[in-house]
Amino acid sequence: MIYFDNAATTLISSNALNAYENTSKKYFANPNSIHHLGMEVNSLLNNSRDDIKKELGLSNDYEVIFNSSATESNNLAIIGYCLKNINRGKHIITSKIEHLSVLEPFRELERNYGFKVDYVTFDEKGNIDIEKFKEILTSDTILVSLMAVNNETGLILPLDEIAKEVKKFPKCVLHVDACQALGKVKLNYNNFDMITISSHKLHGPKSIASLVKKKKINLKPILLGGGQEFSLRSSTQDYPLVVSFVTALHENLSNFQKNLAEVQLIYKFLMEELSKNDEIILNNFENNSPYILNFSLKNKKASVVVEALSNKEIYVSSVSACSSKKEEASYVLLELNRSLKEAKNSIRLSFSSSNTVEEAKIFINTLNEILKNLRG
Ligand code: PLP
Repeated sequence: MIYFDNAATTLISSNALNAYENTSKKYFANPNSIHHLGMEVNSLLNNSRDDIKKELGLSNDYEVIFNSSATESNNLAIIGYCLKNINRGKHIITSKIEHLSVLEPFRELERNYGFKVDYVTFDEKGNIDIEKFKEILTSDTILVSLMAVNNETGLILPLDEIAKEVKKFPKCVLHVDACQALGKVKLNYNNFDMITISSHKLHGPKSIASLVKKKKINLKPILLGGGQEFSLRSSTQDYPLVVSFVTALHENLSNFQKNLAEVQLIYKFLMEELSKNDEIILNNFENNSPYILNFSLKNKKASVVVEALSNKEIYVSSVSACSSKKEEASYVLLELNRSLKEAKNSIRLSFSSSNTVEEAKIFINTLNEILKNLRG
């Protein structure tokens, strides 16, 4: 089996899995219980918050809210912030290449709460038009939400530049969906006001993620109940799952350079090989994460090729995993100035450091064979 779908999810690492098992056996108590075991778990849970801040290099101005997914973090950051701060302004900014867990909250705020949404724009090279961004950012803007790395193409957004502009408007905060960047692309996390991070994109378990935010930022909770997580996300925390997440995070960040070097070899090899094929258009940009490679097929249906690869136990994606069954065009590629045909027939390969150049060679040979046979 060759698994090139790591942007959708990753295999949990042995260390993360062992951490879950070991912690579950010992620290199973509810961290909100007032007996000794509960209090011990609560104290350990707070240590894990500090561990995450340390891993990201964040100051003590930040706090970590644990929840179940990046989708939940994005919803809490966007809806929670806008509804709590609705009296400060009703203008918000994002891009049209965001994950749906960002786009849908923006649409909800526009449809049902009277917010005005503006979108940054991109040129053909994937550059954000910063001048246009400066024009749309006004004293009425209360939120800018942009992803660090796009999940379909790997495009890296210029967040340091964006953060510099946002800081000129004290009423406005910057939320960054860093799911596809964490452990893969270096970011200055202290530049951001709210950060979405997720465990299962970096060899941690599923169903655990965090919204990391500046303590001074107030949010309206989305999930109401017992008041856990600073009253911002009620529900009993799963401490073993948190430990497993932190283990995966630490493992990834301590091997950052080594992993990057390995993945860069695969990326470079595939970019070179794919660019030789005149049936293929590469959709990557100069400023791109090497963990994601995206290309369009000029004359073949991506879904047919993905299925043929899958029959050979090579697993890749077309469009994004969540919506790939709908056979629609990629709204990301359309926004990044690709044609409808290209946007309908794109394939995403996404890597982890456990992939090898040997696998990449097998992939190229198999793909060429499939394209040849489909031609026939
Ligand atoms: N944000 C980005 C950039 C993603 O790539 C994903 C998942 O693909 C999400 C958010 C949502 O993650 P989840 O489905 O785990 O909530």
